[in-house]
Amino acid sequence: MNKGFVYLIGAGPGRADLITVRGAEVLKTADCIIYDKLANPALLAYARKDAEIIHVPKRIGKDSFTQDQINKLLIEKALAGKKVVRLKGGDPCIFGRCSEEIALLTEAGVDFEIVPGVTAAIAAAEYTGIILTDRDYSSQVVFVTGREAEGKQDSNIDWHWLAKFSGTIVFYMGMGNLGLIAEKLMANGKDKNTPTAVIADATFPTQRVVKASLEQISRKCKTEQIEPPAIVVIGAAADSNERFNWFMKKPLFGKNIVMTRDQRGNAEFAAKIISRGGNPIELATFEIKPLTQTNQFLEALSKFSKHDWIIFTSRNGVSLFFEALQKLGKDARVFGSTKVAVIGDETAATLTGFGIRPDFVPGIFTSKELAKQLAATTNLHGKKILLLRSQLASKELVELLQQVGAQIEDVAVYTAMPQQGDYDSLADKIRAGYVHWLTFASPSSAKIFFEQVSIETVNSSNARVASIGPVTSEQLTSLSVKVDITAAKHTIDGLLDAIENMYQ
Ligand code: SAH
Repeated sequence: MNKGFVYLIGAGPGRADLITVRGAEVLKTADCIIYDKLANPALLAYARKDAEIIHVPKRIGKDSFTQDQINKLLIEKALAGKKVVRLKGGDPCIFGRCSEEIALLTEAGVDFEIVPGVTAAIAAAEYTGIILTDRDYSSQVVFVTGREAEGKQDSNIDWHWLAKFSGTIVFYMGMGNLGLIAEKLMANGKDKNTPTAVIADATFPTQRVVKASLEQISRKCKTEQIEPPAIVVIGAAADSNERFNWFMKKPLFGKNIVMTRDQRGNAEFAAKIISRGGNPIELATFEIKPLTQTNQFLEALSKFSKHDWIIFTSRNGVSLFFEALQKLGKDARVFGSTKVAVIGDETAATLTGFGIRPDFVPGIFTSKELAKQLAATTNLHGKKILLLRSQLASKELVELLQQVGAQIEDVAVYTAMPQQGDYDSLADKIRAGYVHWLTFASPSSAKIFFEQVSIETVNSSNARVASIGPVTSEQLTSLSVKVDITAAKHTIDGLLDAIENMYQ
């Protein structure tokens, strides 16, 4: 009988892309994923669509999953012949009750692999510029569990030894007993002035740091309402140079930024916000619906190479066009010697990915610039131009090209369908002052959004509005929405640069 296989994978400390490459690769192939409270659910994006996903949060005092139940589940799924991933926060074996799970697996004859992860202590320290080992003040570091401070009978902690330890002491799970931990160390001779730092929510945009002496740390954490999960660092290392705190200094650190693109666009946008330290809030305003089975599209395709120019104005247009091409058993050769113009770096890159290098990309990413600059470089009089774009695109491009004598065929490759979303809870967040930025990357998303959220809600809030370019800003302004910034470069990166500039 196939006994399945279990991977014990470290999900990393929080931020999803801090998982290892090996961890992510295995996640993609798992039949069943059993994940902890501390493993970032965003990692489930790696999972196969048909993978069985089981959340097993363990909370003290609440009747959630016990370790016993988790162990049973693990064995049951493995013995059913499945490829099981046990996804645990940080590193799977640092305070992860790994040995119990492994013992059961070996007993049942189930093979396993351990995929290490970045443990919370290391990430929390590094994301605050605390250097756990430094040849000047700490050649040793010790990881301790804070759960044994209550004087558990079988406690392995030697408080006397720990108080004398001259290196860096790091406590996991120390928040519940922080006062007690400090007291025990001081009672055993640790200097009350020993620098101490508490880092909560490490690596997330909600990360917080509190620094104080060992004597004061518990009180200060209470005043500042620090909640677990948090790491406690005790020793000279905790008195770190504020200039080393690179993460919390990022211009977008802790900024709550609402994204209003389609689901896929939002996912890519989110990764960019996270890498700049911000907190993405997702609201998919629309869904892309391909229109590549319409007669209009198929007809345009049948006489494709008769056109002098093909114009793509978005990445979606390019991807859906090539998807349709592939389904019809055709490939990039349909372009023949037809010239291609596109708007935007992303559109150009997507097209190049399909083997076609655009002949023309205007320096400024708007329809107006495309028409103006293309007409300035080549005579468009009598030229046949095929536009492959959204059904909702404005007619401006068509008119401008017609004005210079071109014959235009405007074919819709896709349309954007409004998508249901939790607009009410987002409106609450806006009213509560939680949202720092509302972003719009197209006129249609702006239009759909303000059909659901009142303009008053936004205009009377602290939330600022950022737009990707002049056309989107025009749409917003025509709705009477106050636009705070319009990106100079009309890409998602340009939009984020513009927001960052507001903080510099
Ligand atoms: N296996 C995990 C630790 C599990 S014990 C690892 O290697 O990181 C749970 C403890 O880890 C929490 O109580 C807290 O002390 C710490 N922890 C986990 N994630 C954290 C985070 N994002 N920020 C701060 N501490 C975290």
